[in-house]
Amino acid sequence: RAKSRGRNSIHYFTENMSTDFLKRMEIMRDLRTAVEQKQFYMVYQPIVNLSTQRISKAEALIRWQHPHKGMISPLEFIHVAEEIGLIVELSEWIFNEVSQQVNSWRKRFCPELTISINTSPVQYKNNGAQINAWADSLLLRGIPCEAISLEITEHLLMENQLEAVEALDKVRLHGMSVAIDDFGTGYSSFAYLKDFDFDFLKIDQRFVQNMSADNKDTALCEAIIVMASKLKMSVIAEGIETEQQKQLLIKAGCTFGQGYLFAKPLSVADFEALLVEQNSTLIVSESIKGKN
Ligand code: C2E
Ligand code: MG
Ligand code: MG
Ligand code: MG
Repeated sequence: RAKSRGRNSIHYFTENMSTDFLKRMEIMRDLRTAVEQKQFYMVYQPIVNLSTQRISKAEALIRWQHPHKGMISPLEFIHVAEEIGLIVELSEWIFNEVSQQVNSWRKRFCPELTISINTSPVQYKNNGAQINAWADSLLLRGIPCEAISLEITEHLLMENQLEAVEALDKVRLHGMSVAIDDFGTGYSSFAYLKDFDFDFLKIDQRFVQNMSADNKDTALCEAIIVMASKLKMSVIAEGIETEQQKQLLIKAGCTFGQGYLFAKPLSVADFEALLVEQNSTLIVSESIKGKN
């Protein structure tokens, strides 16, 4: 019986592999058209200051609305775009979208708003030509570089460390901030912290989501927060879904949080509504203060 189950599971495995393979091939084929036809849009997930509840940051996340297949997750297509070299062109579109959006929101609702963009390893090739062009483009349009933050994962640093570090050093000089994303999930996180000055450290959601009183995940989060503060980085905890996780993170001294407890990634209109609401409650609380 074990034998036949074994055979079935092999059969199942190869079948799975070939559907995965076909799926990838389709994504590869459709992605080129998608980039040409701009089948993408950006959503914005608020990043909240845990002690004041204020939103002054957000992460921009891409969405692909396929004309026949519906929504395709970035987890399925970003790495394909990286492999076939489309990511540079796609990221150019992302940067243009996000920079216009943050500029408009800064002017109308929130002057200190910073929006972060996820970046891929290839964007740091050629001495970070693309990233440097972004800094120039912001300066040219009178958008402060502080309006944009770049998120990078440890994978990026693994692939081309020296080039990446030099490119990031340059953009930081212009005032763009840099965040290490999904911290704790790569191979040698600590070595990267030694070689580069990040402004923000984002604790990966797999630690945050398993936090409960006195468990290992909570201990790890606490340790990461202490370490980050010694290295002068601000911490953003990703994937906060419960009030308990939030309270444990506040107790551990975490400054910022992101997750479904506060908001899912939002459309432009919904994010804007949130900024409007935040401003009106601010005016109310200030006028109350004024009366006292
Ligand atoms: P990431 O940069 O770590 O982004 C956070 C992911 O966690 C997002 O998934 C977000 O929707 C999800 N998330 C946020 N809060 C919660 C929560 O409370 N619970 C749970 N379960 N999930 C939460 P998303 O949008 O599917 O993006 C997945 C990944 O795809 C991103 O991970 C990032 O690596 C990549 N990605 C997304 N947009 C872009 C982009 O514009 N450019 C590049 N290069 N990569 C992108
Ligand atoms: Mg990210
Ligand atoms: Mg992340
Ligand atoms: Mg991630």
